[in-house]
Amino acid sequence: MRKEEPSGGGGFGDTILSRVMSSSLRNGSCWTATLAALLLLAIGDTADLSAGAAPMRRTELQAAQQSSGAESPLPVFELHSGFWVNLHHFLYLQARLLNGNSSSMDSGRGEAPPNDAPVSLIDFPAEEIRAWQAAVAFYAKDLAGRDLLLNGEMEIINGRLSAMEACPELEGKSSAVCASGLQRDLVEVLDRAAPVYRAHWWAQQDRVNREWIARVAPMVRQMGVELSAQLADVYQRPWPVERLRVDVVWYGGPYGAYTSLSPVHVTISSHDARNQGIYGFEVLFHESSHTLAGAVTEAIAHEFRERDKPIPRDLWHALLFYTTGELVRRDLAYGTMSLASLQGTDPSSYEPYAARFGLYSGGWDRFRGMLDLYWRPYLEGKVSFETAVARLAAAL
Ligand SMILES: [Zn+2]
Repeated sequence: MRKEEPSGGGGFGDTILSRVMSSSLRNGSCWTATLAALLLLAIGDTADLSAGAAPMRRTELQAAQQSSGAESPLPVFELHSGFWVNLHHFLYLQARLLNGNSSSMDSGRGEAPPNDAPVSLIDFPAEEIRAWQAAVAFYAKDLAGRDLLLNGEMEIINGRLSAMEACPELEGKSSAVCASGLQRDLVEVLDRAAPVYRAHWWAQQDRVNREWIARVAPMVRQMGVELSAQLADVYQRPWPVERLRVDVVWYGGPYGAYTSLSPVHVTISSHDARNQGIYGFEVLFHESSHTLAGAVTEAIAHEFRERDKPIPRDLWHALLFYTTGELVRRDLAYGTMSLASLQGTDPSSYEPYAARFGLYSGGWDRFRGMLDLYWRPYLEGKVSFETAVARLAAAL
């Protein structure tokens, strides 16, 4: 068991979290922290494994790490607090509030309406009010009704704005690399709203983002290698070799976080009440585990087709939530992971995110029962991956 804080007193902790401040920015709109879960931690884990100290699935995990662990990529997160993606999501939020937060997107999987009131523009100069209201109206007309992830165009917008993080504007006037290539009216709206956002809200939201990163970073350093190895093992997929780009945004949509694949891009809210403390860590790894889900979704599809049964919508996603939550809970309970402060939570009674925040309602309630019965034994090393998925398909 790893009890000590490996990066606490050795003096190398600072090398893990290297802060890359963009030097060329007049406006300070770009901030990046790269979190590489360190090789030293991986070495520590291997030593732990040979001591045979931890419970459940250790034999398999140990075998996997001994055979291929050396080549297993370490989890490397690149966490950004970027100006344009934050502005984009904030306008999306304001427009949704203006529209009465349309419930048409409610899929019953933990969507929570934002608690915030629309921002007040009292005492703003008339020009700022016009620019801001025009931007909110533009978003309200169309974009605010779209799903941030499932709508391909929203994914493209998010990806482009993420890449434009260091740009002072999006038309390309300052530099060719700042020509976003996005729809002209969207670019105009964002460029006009930018000074208003910068003057009134950005500094505070950027600070909240950085504070979130600073709170999650020690958990990633302490537990990230272990958890990523467990997730890769469970899903029978290697952890992604490339850095995981994570944009930390003040508002991250009704679910608080979402992940695009190819390229992998995690967007996660720093302000969402569900993403705080250890839950921020669980959410980060839930989102990352989307990149590992291929084998499990294929196996689910295969087993249901074999039985001529319709594939239950979202079963794979409930399984992803269940797995990350269960691994975090177990690692905390058995001391594989330890946290100095769990915000008063007893590690042995950690309640995983999906249970804590009411995701197991409606159809997901049934999934949870089935995952307890048929998927959990796999996580405990009692049955094979294939057997677990086959039993799920037979029972559902
Ligand atoms: Zn997810």
